Amino acid sequence: MADIKEPLVEITKDGLRVISTEVSEKLAKKKLSASAITGLQGCPASWLANSFVTNLIVEQEPDNAARRGSMFHQVMENFFALPKEQRTQKAMKEQVRAVLASDEYKDLAEIRDAVLWLRAAVNGYYNMHADADPSEVVIAEIESIAPNGKGTAFGEALDKINKSEDRDKGFIGRALENVLSSGKFYRLSKNEEAVRWAKKTLKSYLETYGFNAVEDEAIAARNELIFKGNRSVDPGLEIFVIGRIGNASRDTLGYIDRVQETGREEGSDVSTEVMVEDWKSGAKAKQYKPNTRAKNPEGLAEQRQQIIYSILLEQEKGVKVTGARLIYPVARQVIEVDLTDEKLRERVIADVEAADAQLTDHIERNLFEYSPSILCSWCPLVKVCPSAKTFNHVEKARVALESQPSVDVLEKGFKLTRRR
Ligand code: SF4
Repeated sequence: MADIKEPLVEITKDGLRVISTEVSEKLAKKKLSASAITGLQGCPASWLANSFVTNLIVEQEPDNAARRGSMFHQVMENFFALPKEQRTQKAMKEQVRAVLASDEYKDLAEIRDAVLWLRAAVNGYYNMHADADPSEVVIAEIESIAPNGKGTAFGEALDKINKSEDRDKGFIGRALENVLSSGKFYRLSKNEEAVRWAKKTLKSYLETYGFNAVEDEAIAARNELIFKGNRSVDPGLEIFVIGRIGNASRDTLGYIDRVQETGREEGSDVSTEVMVEDWKSGAKAKQYKPNTRAKNPEGLAEQRQQIIYSILLEQEKGVKVTGARLIYPVARQVIEVDLTDEKLRERVIADVEAADAQLTDHIERNLFEYSPSILCSWCPLVKVCPSAKTFNHVEKARVALESQPSVDVLEKGFKLTRRR
């Protein structure tokens, strides 16, 4: 557990207030995500507590739903990273074994229920036939053009070399080091392979075109090398996406579990049409009914996540997203997301914009209000929150409440101004 000297957040009668400079700074830089939007729509106080405090002070049971889900995700990611022809049932069993033996999950390997759960989830995947044949799944090849990649560093070092009078031994290395020492290339400077590429490319460029090369051919070669150095082609597994949605003032980000190729333009070396997919390890599939009047209908959060991913993937990676689906191996169900539903898409964009404005408002007022509901029993603040609602007559809610952290534990991260 983190060593927290002072409480980070104060619990007041109106809501939570941040009292730690560190948390304020993190909040100011906070990006949106599908889960943040759902959290802010639910209870802003609970969202703040869970995002910045409870993970630092509350010891988690090793076997919990989130870790089981991550373990299953890891098996599927490793399995689909295998070449198509190697994706046999035997290989899947090997991946299960390897993940259970890994440092990350070896403690869960000792817990019989967790191991049985993982096996049942994998069996569920096979029995539900979400993929007609795993060896037929074409994992997309996604192009990324990274600003400040090794191509940019190469270009900046070349400019330096051309402007300098230095021609002694080691001047190429020095020019490159000089560029890489700026904060902008911090991560790149730690990547030995990328640094080697930039140095080798500088040498061979200068050997071919010399210094101050201004001929069209030299300029074209330079631009091509910058492009090549800033481009990567990644398999569609755990793809990171980030970007602005609608008129939101901050970025939204996420990781897409699996991206399948559904089309490729002739001559392209990357996928041009794809389907986004998410593994959902919950016991119940969340079916969304478009015509419901409910404010927060079941399944909307999951649909919203996939639509956000589709928008970001199209915006950031230049592919066309032709479909999206949620795969529930435990519930053995696939839920399709209708990307042609314009109303739903507009609603999702409006939700992102509203969450963005809401977060700005909470930060400006330094107040994250309570929004009590039946879910209070599953909130770690339930034993200290002045607005908590409890439903002790509901067995599940009573059991959940009992398992929430005690006042003594919460006092390490929260300043309590009023005890219940
Ligand atoms: S107990 Fe209920 S009202 Fe209080 S912070 Fe948690 S979810 Fe919100």
